[in-house]
Amino acid sequence: MVTQYKNLINGKLVDNGEWLDVINPATEQVIGQVPACGASELDSAVAAARAAFKTWKNTPIDERRAAIMAISGAIKENADELFRLLTAEQGKPHAQAKGEIFGAAGISAAQSTLDLEEEIIQDDETRLHRHRRVPVGVVGGIVPWNFPVMMAIQKIVPAMLSGCTIVLKPSPYTPLTTLRIAELIADKVPAGVVNIITGEDSLGPLITQHPDIDKITFTGSTATGKKIMEGASADLKRITLELGGNDASIVLPDADPKKVAEQLFWSSFQNAGQVCIAAKRVYIHEDIYDELSQAIADFAKTVTVGDGSEQGTGVGPIQNKKQYERVLELIEDAKDNGYKFLTGGDQDPSGTGYFVPLTILDNPPEDARIVAEEQFGPVMPLMKFSTEEEVIARANASEYGLAGAVWTGDTEKGVAIAEQLETGTVWINEFMHLSPFAPFGGHKQSGFGAEYGKEGLKEFTYPQVITVKRDNIVA
Ligand code: NAD
Repeated sequence: MVTQYKNLINGKLVDNGEWLDVINPATEQVIGQVPACGASELDSAVAAARAAFKTWKNTPIDERRAAIMAISGAIKENADELFRLLTAEQGKPHAQAKGEIFGAAGISAAQSTLDLEEEIIQDDETRLHRHRRVPVGVVGGIVPWNFPVMMAIQKIVPAMLSGCTIVLKPSPYTPLTTLRIAELIADKVPAGVVNIITGEDSLGPLITQHPDIDKITFTGSTATGKKIMEGASADLKRITLELGGNDASIVLPDADPKKVAEQLFWSSFQNAGQVCIAAKRVYIHEDIYDELSQAIADFAKTVTVGDGSEQGTGVGPIQNKKQYERVLELIEDAKDNGYKFLTGGDQDPSGTGYFVPLTILDNPPEDARIVAEEQFGPVMPLMKFSTEEEVIARANASEYGLAGAVWTGDTEKGVAIAEQLETGTVWINEFMHLSPFAPFGGHKQSGFGAEYGKEGLKEFTYPQVITVKRDNIVA
């Protein structure tokens, strides 16, 4: 019998007797089951969060920090078990799963040091005028399957720190590690402050539309983000949306192909390309295009695609069948249109596991589906450009605006280009580096609001202004 993982509601580990199977994407075997929850379990979780909010919002911030540190400690102490489980359900290689688990522990600890200090607007003989931040209330957190633990922590920690309570829903594809963490923290966090419930996608709209939830914090696709915005509008819930991206990397002619090929490869292929901030379009200056594209393709041939639990695997499977079929469809479309492949394009969908060969395209047109759409798979289109003006326009010609990168020996020029890009984050000569102290959020259809830093924390609060007129009104 497979292991059954329970939900966390009001400090207790519970199930409703109905179960969803969770599959390992490398083997297609069922590796665990989680409760299939609906409206009544959600009502219980929200009621617990509402009751806990009364006390938690007035709990001193140092006590809230201590509870966050207990979560961070529990993750770190159990990292070995957790990263193996994460690989089994998500597919990413062990080293990357370890990075996610320790990253989640580290980010919890770092974020717990944040504070939203009170601002004194005026303090003189006429008036005391204070601006303070107060917690929004009960938060509904909804997360995707590409970084299930990191995304869960990214919702839980700022909610707790700000004085909110939370009901979190993992993706039905990757709930196991999150529920194991729920088990580990059940006695470390006051009952009702953190509730974790699982269910199909259909549980999502119930959260978005629940009348006793005050805010939704969501990470996932732009299409779902739009539905959430619509659902949350009924009672004007506050929302934070971290959505899709089609990030451009721009390589200027002074970049050394030998120095950047490997980094560029990983900027596209980490987690099998299932990263919102992966480089999904790579623009290389025509002077170095041939040498650099060959160097990237040569490096790709040294990387093994396989089961993430096996030693030597660099890139794991696609996490689920739906996404696997979508990536294969984009590759088929590229083949049908006669685009040139430097590697890949030779997938065999009949085998076990959702594996896609590393696919690098040689200068496909800008309007190719595989360039214009977010692939979210091990696919890297390389495109030639001639002028900076042209490449900036091409990079910005997207409904997305999540992140981007510039690779150059001239960092001043890199920054000048970065300032022209319509994205929330831009890296010069690196990729995917995020700080828990800097706001991370998308422009255009990549998001709404931000996570991380004080800006991210503020999204879990309302401003409240209190003024005291210093007149003597006593008779
Ligand atoms: P998804 O939108 O399909 O699902 C995300 C979550 O939403 C899941 O928990 C799902 O069950 C739930 N959901 C589905 N339908 C819903 C609805 N109608 N109402 C409420 N909830 C609903 O996304 P995914 O396929 O799991 O994740 C991949 C996407 O996430 C990609 O587009 C990727 O770029 C994006 N992403 C963005 C970031 C970021 O920080 N910007 C980070 C990671 C992933």
